[in-house]
Amino acid sequence: MQQAQYQLIIVGGGPAGLTAGLYAARGRLKVLLVEKGATGGQVLVTDWVDNYPGFIEGISGFDLVDKMTAHADRFGLEKKYATITALNLTGEIKSVLLESGEILTAKTIILCTGARPRKLDIPGEYEFSGRGVSYCATCDGPFYRNQEIAVVGGGNTAIQDALHLTKFASKVTVIHRRSELRATKILQEKAFCNQKIDFLWNTQVLEVRGNKNGVDSLLLRHHNGDESVLNVTGLFVLIGVTPNNELLPLDQLRADEGGFVITDGEMATSIPGVFAAGDIRSKQSRQIINAAGEGAVAELSVEHYLGNQAPDTPLNCSE
Ligand code: NAP
Repeated sequence: MQQAQYQLIIVGGGPAGLTAGLYAARGRLKVLLVEKGATGGQVLVTDWVDNYPGFIEGISGFDLVDKMTAHADRFGLEKKYATITALNLTGEIKSVLLESGEILTAKTIILCTGARPRKLDIPGEYEFSGRGVSYCATCDGPFYRNQEIAVVGGGNTAIQDALHLTKFASKVTVIHRRSELRATKILQEKAFCNQKIDFLWNTQVLEVRGNKNGVDSLLLRHHNGDESVLNVTGLFVLIGVTPNNELLPLDQLRADEGGFVITDGEMATSIPGVFAAGDIRSKQSRQIINAAGEGAVAELSVEHYLGNQAPDTPLNCSE
């Protein structure tokens, strides 16, 4: 029978993938982490992380990713930066096809493909994307110095990023479709106390308008059906996430209505030998700490699945 090159391939290098990789490298598995861009996933573009245990004063998303990557590297995690074009998850040996044509094989896979920002799907949104419409406050905030801008959304991302954007913008209007925020109370308190933040409740953005220079206004609809125009030069769309599941065989892999992968408590998916961790999973809370914890659980499940086979790597007495 064909031999797999790896005991484990981890698909995706965000906090879930990096933690699974750290555990697998320490567990002396023959493991490879495949990531198409830089490691870190969405955390890489998170301005400030204030709730990751151990970082009492908080830490920037960039620095947290840097530390997580360095931690996995310390145990020799093998990484490959490449784009995956197909995954074959069935059978005892799974395969990962790369854009280059290379095929990688493994006995087990942990899916850590994460999620990406959801879109409003309204007129003008795509036309002005990168010219006033943004999905990343950390990346684009500094472009809006002394300008009036808007944020749409009422979750943790919207409120945390609205607070961040007040460092640059002269005014930030948070537009929310309901009369109550979903964000955690401490963020709500900070936002309500911030003089630069205004709220428009029960309001939807119908259209992004602008000219050759970029966005100049938004067409809004209020609860009572009235429409109005808000003059802003930037709109940050921060309304949640969509799963990065395009590569996944959703006819074979159980997923919820939103396309997030369903696992059991041990992170096992409906396909034997395939596990999932982090934002790609179907779940309530998408926190960095969850992703990291799930990465650890998934890797321990992989070890269990592999039946504690003898390590492929030689004994290392230097650590
Ligand atoms: P989220 O919690 O799903 O919130 C999405 C927000 O966008 C909701 O307020 C929702 O309104 C609104 N929304 C969704 N679709 C919309 C649409 N088509 N038009 C207008 N508004 C729309 O998403 P998130 O804030 O990105 O957070 C994602 C996950 O990351 C959450 O689990 C969150 O807790 C976590 N996170 C944590 C932190 C932290 O702990 N510091 C920071 C950022 C994110 P409704 O409220 O009406 O549904």
